[in-house]
Amino acid sequence: MFVTGGVASSLGKGIISASLAKLLQSRGYNVTIQKLDPYLNIDPGTLNPYEHGECYVTEDGAETDLDLGHYERFLNVRTSQDNNVTTGRIYKSVIEKERRGDYLGKTVQIVPHITDEIKRRIMLMGTHHKYDVVITEIGGTVGDIESLPFIEAVRQLKWELGRNAMFIHLTLVPYLSASKELKTKPTQHSVKALQEEGIQPDILVLRSEQDINESIRKKVALFCNVDPDAVIQSVDVDSIYKVPILMQQQHLDEIAMRKLNLPGHHDSDMSSWVAFLDKMAEATETVRIGLVGKYVELPDAYKSIIEAVNHAATYNGRKAKIELIHSENVTNENVAEKLSNLQGIIVAPGFGNRGTEGKIIAARYARENNIPFIGICLGMQMAVVEFARNVLGWDKANSTEMDHATKYPVIDIMEDQKNITNKGGTMRLGGYDCQLKPGSKAYEIYGKPVVRERHRHRYEYNSNFIKEYEAAGMVASGTNPDTGLVEIMEIPSHKFYLCCQFHPEYSSTVLTPHPLFLSFVKAAISE
Ligand code: GLN
Repeated sequence: MFVTGGVASSLGKGIISASLAKLLQSRGYNVTIQKLDPYLNIDPGTLNPYEHGECYVTEDGAETDLDLGHYERFLNVRTSQDNNVTTGRIYKSVIEKERRGDYLGKTVQIVPHITDEIKRRIMLMGTHHKYDVVITEIGGTVGDIESLPFIEAVRQLKWELGRNAMFIHLTLVPYLSASKELKTKPTQHSVKALQEEGIQPDILVLRSEQDINESIRKKVALFCNVDPDAVIQSVDVDSIYKVPILMQQQHLDEIAMRKLNLPGHHDSDMSSWVAFLDKMAEATETVRIGLVGKYVELPDAYKSIIEAVNHAATYNGRKAKIELIHSENVTNENVAEKLSNLQGIIVAPGFGNRGTEGKIIAARYARENNIPFIGICLGMQMAVVEFARNVLGWDKANSTEMDHATKYPVIDIMEDQKNITNKGGTMRLGGYDCQLKPGSKAYEIYGKPVVRERHRHRYEYNSNFIKEYEAAGMVASGTNPDTGLVEIMEIPSHKFYLCCQFHPEYSSTVLTPHPLFLSFVKAAISE
């Protein structure tokens, strides 16, 4: 199933794709979602979060689009490098083949060489990964120069696959408040643009702020050659997790199955999903969590953390009220004013110096005031620096990322990172085992001796200082069994003070919330 978008970007193709995938999964299909991104970067790993939101890391160590986070949170099935392909990656492999001489003297062209490589990457999800249904979402908007080769490739695939392929097109139906009207013309134009490129959509999903009535839907169906029942509306809702049910009510899954001639393994069973939605509806009392980071103007930069907190709050019977606090604005003078009202504090991941002193001040405030705290990746590193400066009395202790010449390099570059100069895809990435110390908070939370979590960093805790830390009350409670790298530091005497070098947020899903966030929220609401 190919999902395209028109009229505007950010219409939520990822959420619609994830919702449809969820519904098909609930009928017994093995489903995955793939995202094709029409930009030249090999992956979003080198992109500033202001450009592209969070960089989501898969278990196999791929740096990917944040939509893959939605796919995992909805489906509870892991994605991999193959689930996210950019124009850059396509061109890179074609050019590498050309340099190897694989094209045997032929002129290498966008059609068929680039389009063939795109088709190969799509088909891989079925042939190699063995999914029954592959939903391939094409990033960008129809009509963009950049997405043309992708559109051409899926046009060809439809020709080859016949009834085994279909198209869903997502558009925007704007509401003009002056004339009090919903306007379908942009949708008609967008479908025309798609048809000019040789694609006839089978299903239209119309995003709108208002309910779209039957007659408007019929009109769209007529103008766009689509069955009237295959014009679906997607009206704004307060939680993305409600979208699968809204799609189910309009039979999106059944229509897709009809178009693809899929028999359906069994009736849809969305009961566990609905149970989660019920919990969400029942949770009216709030829990106030502060997220201290430097990209707070763009909450998408912290998508997975925000969702992980939402999951944990729901399972604790609360509604998360997440306050995004700009780390650059936190000072010793205003920290109490900014943080004292919070029940839990998270210090966010990040790179570079900007805002790090504010993160250190926030970590100190949480430690000294017994406020439940999680430091994630750079957040852990800054909490460790804070402890060195204010408990161990090591003035100017720092990470060598921020101060190369510090006398106390309590966070230092990993040995195998020292000679790497390329920035793309060279960090410590993906899932690694972590051995937990019996009797520690971490062990108690996870309830097992070895866990696996995802990483994305170049720096690590410098274990030359571990004796002093542990003597002063901050202990290493999780280590990598192969390398000995410290993955978790905690303060046992604190109500909840846990710092992890890995990113627990990437693996929290709707149906399996992450134990670290669950315990954190539990501590936050306990007296
Ligand atoms: N900048 C830090 C490092 O590279 C932390 C990275 C992160 O927070 N993801 O180690």
